[in-house]
Amino acid sequence: MDDSLKKNGSSDDAAASTPAPSNFIRDIIDEDTRTGKWGGRVVTRFPPEPNGYLHIGHAKSICLNFGVARDYPGGICHLRFDDTNPEKEDMEYVEAIQRDIRWLGFHWGDKLFFASDYYGRLYQCALELIRRGKAYVCDLDADEIRKTRGTLTQPGTNSPYRARSVEENLDLFQRMKAGEFPDGSRVLRAKIDMAHSYIVMRDPVLYRIRRQSHYRTGDQWCIYPMYDFTHCLSDSFEGITHSLCTVEFENNRPLYDWVLDALDLYHPRQIEFAPLNLNFTILSKRFLKSLVEDGIVDGWDDPRMPTLSGFRRRGCPPEAIRDFCDKIGLAKRDSLVDVAMLESSLRACLNLTAPRVMAVLRPLRVVIENYPEGQVEELEAPYYPDDPPKMGYRKVPFSRVLYVERSDFMEEPHRKFWRLAPGREVRLRWAYFLRCKSVIKDPDTGEVMELRCTYDPDTRGGQAPDGRKVRGTIHWVSADHSLSAEVRLYDRLYSAPNPVAHKNREVTEILNPDSLEILNTARVEQSLADAKSGARYQFERTGYFCVDSRHSAPGKLVFNRTVGLRDSWAKIFKQGARGKRKGKGRTGKGEGRGRGRGRSQGQS
Ligand code: ATP
Ligand code: MG
Repeated sequence: MDDSLKKNGSSDDAAASTPAPSNFIRDIIDEDTRTGKWGGRVVTRFPPEPNGYLHIGHAKSICLNFGVARDYPGGICHLRFDDTNPEKEDMEYVEAIQRDIRWLGFHWGDKLFFASDYYGRLYQCALELIRRGKAYVCDLDADEIRKTRGTLTQPGTNSPYRARSVEENLDLFQRMKAGEFPDGSRVLRAKIDMAHSYIVMRDPVLYRIRRQSHYRTGDQWCIYPMYDFTHCLSDSFEGITHSLCTVEFENNRPLYDWVLDALDLYHPRQIEFAPLNLNFTILSKRFLKSLVEDGIVDGWDDPRMPTLSGFRRRGCPPEAIRDFCDKIGLAKRDSLVDVAMLESSLRACLNLTAPRVMAVLRPLRVVIENYPEGQVEELEAPYYPDDPPKMGYRKVPFSRVLYVERSDFMEEPHRKFWRLAPGREVRLRWAYFLRCKSVIKDPDTGEVMELRCTYDPDTRGGQAPDGRKVRGTIHWVSADHSLSAEVRLYDRLYSAPNPVAHKNREVTEILNPDSLEILNTARVEQSLADAKSGARYQFERTGYFCVDSRHSAPGKLVFNRTVGLRDSWAKIFKQGARGKRKGKGRTGKGEGRGRGRGRSQGQS
């Protein structure tokens, strides 16, 4: 469908059907709706600067702004690119941002705006401010302006150019626009109060001279408006009612209000909320960009990135991110959210939507000595054992030679290990009881190469007619009928819980050295032969995975681990707190953490 014909608000049915919980901003809007303050209108906007990809913090703002538009009758949310910084902006980002908003389940309908489309109107507003004696051209350079601005305890001092006449200011500003003066030689400043208690109000710069091509307006302009001037006016031009922004703009609110009042323009209400901060995560676009440019990650959509495109590639369903944004709520006060909350939203969503299949990540060969050579049985296995009719069944071939997970065998099992060991019997998921008879090792290295086993033909379906029990159930694939696959195990990018605090240190010092582990020899069941790019699965007992959209190709299956089945970091934290951790900050590796203990969800 043509984008402009789409309904404003949510772009998919799931997003449309779930109103968000209430919060202090919705309380304000409720009250405004009740009193008819805005004539019944509710118009919000999401105003990204196209200088990078969207991250999970932006998702909070998107869910808020588009969510409000969705949930109030006649509500509208504008998508406005706040593009007044020609150095850093690019069409690539404009496109990526639109893709990510749509993916998240929201749509702006025909309400797509660019601040750069307002350059002409903004220039007219600047002329009007000058005419009203509320702005002047100042010849101080950036350094001198900073020095005369004062401090929190000291007032600033007036610029020597502050008293210029309206005529002179009009003339100089028009010549600034015409390109008569070099970059940085003059600026336009608001004439407010150099002793104001808010430093932002001490004659802030509104326009600067900058000879730089803009990705949309090219070389048409050599003066560019500042954010504080552009933003409030853009909100006003578009008839926004509630301008929702993060708390760092609280100090700028007096200026927002001043500009609109000085020009007697329509005046939206700015309301601030706390930005999302996540532990183990850095959300600054500038920092994310440096990870991409320094090659520390494999692009903005690297599955370890906290970007929406990274989450998408990692296999996160958009509804899990929306659910997370609902759960974290909305407050004025800054807080640090545990990334485990996001992972819990992911598991809750994937548990209901991802079909279960079997994949062996680190294969160990098993030969069933009493299973006839050449025989193959097609066993029926449900995709969703909790409710088999929901997703149906597939056939899983069973034969004499299988692969099981290396970690499901221990030659000398410890007390709590219930899986395969010499002489030990286990259940093969959806199949038979299997007993380990002997172990074949590499004569040189001593490494276990193969298990020789027998199966009990009377236990098909996993029950013994004589009532004997086994304690372990393990997954498997048939050697001849499984497919080889590459599996990428992703973990947190940083080892420090609060990497933001270390932001200025060498980034390599806070990186988790095990954030990516690539397994080249995994085997997955045959039914995955036609798995589509992006398709999500639960690999029984190992976690949630999706088909990687970048590295998979016909005949080559690559899976990304989205998230493990359990929160294994919680346990490490607890141990750490008890002072039991030794050596580096992590125990074990990748999928080894939290694997194999207990049973997977949905396994009876
Ligand atoms: P960065 O500082 O990382 O570059 P930004 O805030 O400058 O991010 P913008 O493109 O200006 O990025 O952000 C668009 C909108 O998203 C703004 O309204 C901003 O307040 C909001 N936003 C940005 N980061 C967060 C966050 N962590 N939590 C909630 N909202 C956020
Ligand atoms: Mg910004």
